[in-house]
Amino acid sequence: MVKINDNYNKLAGSYLFSTIAQKVNAYTSAHPDTNIIRLGIGDVTRPLPQAVTDALHAAVDEMADEKTFRGYAPDRGYGFLRRAVCENDYRQRGCDIDEDEIFISDGAKPDSGNIQEIFSADASVAVCDPVYPVYVDSNVMAGRRISYLACTAENGFVPQIPDEAYDIIYLCSPNNPTGTALTRDELQKWVDYAAQNSSVIIFDAAYEAYIREDDVPHSIYECSGARECAIELHSFSKNAGFTGLRLGYTVVPKDLVREGVSLNSLWARRHATKYNGAPYIVQRAGEAVYSPEGKKQVAALVDYYMDNACYILSGLTKAGYKAFGGVNSPYVWMAVPDGMTSWEFFDRLIEEAGVVGTPGSGFGACGEGYFRLTAFGSRENTREAVDRIVRMGA
Ligand SMILES: *Cc1c(COP(=O)(O)O)cnc(C)c1O
Repeated sequence: MVKINDNYNKLAGSYLFSTIAQKVNAYTSAHPDTNIIRLGIGDVTRPLPQAVTDALHAAVDEMADEKTFRGYAPDRGYGFLRRAVCENDYRQRGCDIDEDEIFISDGAKPDSGNIQEIFSADASVAVCDPVYPVYVDSNVMAGRRISYLACTAENGFVPQIPDEAYDIIYLCSPNNPTGTALTRDELQKWVDYAAQNSSVIIFDAAYEAYIREDDVPHSIYECSGARECAIELHSFSKNAGFTGLRLGYTVVPKDLVREGVSLNSLWARRHATKYNGAPYIVQRAGEAVYSPEGKKQVAALVDYYMDNACYILSGLTKAGYKAFGGVNSPYVWMAVPDGMTSWEFFDRLIEEAGVVGTPGSGFGACGEGYFRLTAFGSRENTREAVDRIVRMGA
């Protein structure tokens, strides 16, 4: 009889969003007249920018013509997109990254789940707590043990550099769920730690477009020495609205070598074997994100959400809550009132304000006592929800 991968039995249940859905359903059937506003979703709600849909339409027409039809894409992605990424996301920021260090993919979630495959099954792994669950679950599936780096209000949500030498460290900045970001100096300390210990940092930059402050790096390659110890993940989901279209990329510098083997070659091998490329039309849509109109339209999208984030942060603060994030990020992370759990606050918020958020405890033990609100809703709903929370009081 076939044996299953027993590591899957060790996964913690992913009850967070299904429990939220159940509770919301139960509440709405008991109170059908309440207008519930959801500030819990981690998905964007604004439509794609015009430059993106124009590029999609044009590429669809190319696919309909035998002279311009394209079949399988090149393994690492089309040159036109890798050049646009390289120029705009790296060279213009002074980062030394080459086109063939960029691997186009269908998103940062799959890449963040898959990247662990190029490391040994007994590599030690450290993640932040609270954490984006993919980093944890993908390593549990591979049988690795995971250590947690506490991120709380006491340390400003900046994980302390550990005394132990971990092989792989996942960092996400600006962070989901806390909405806080590492400064250049803070990130440099992690790069120095990784260099000293021959560790590899997996740096998730999915929220890079939301950075507003000058001392927050947009890329880990702004830190010196990062080419020898860091892999970076990017997404087109949260800036340009590609959550349903699917596009991302991963950077593996050629200077990243372990046991005499280039991790760039390992990832190239993995990518070519198990993946067959993001669709041509989607890669053209990604290229359009970097066009002059595309840049303007994406900036307007990000501004729209950041206006919501600002309204949430100031409303919560006005109401007497301690709230974090929301400055370089579409997430606001609030401390729930003393003596309440995250889930108790969830119940109170839906009953007294008709607002749904995400209990912090769903992202890890250190998330207990916190609550996440997202800026991805419409302006009207976001303002109404915040005004209700302010009226409810802390
Ligand atoms: C949303 C998100 C991503 C993006 O995933 P895609 O697969 O590109 O849509 C990656 N990392 C984090 C932490 C996220 O919140």
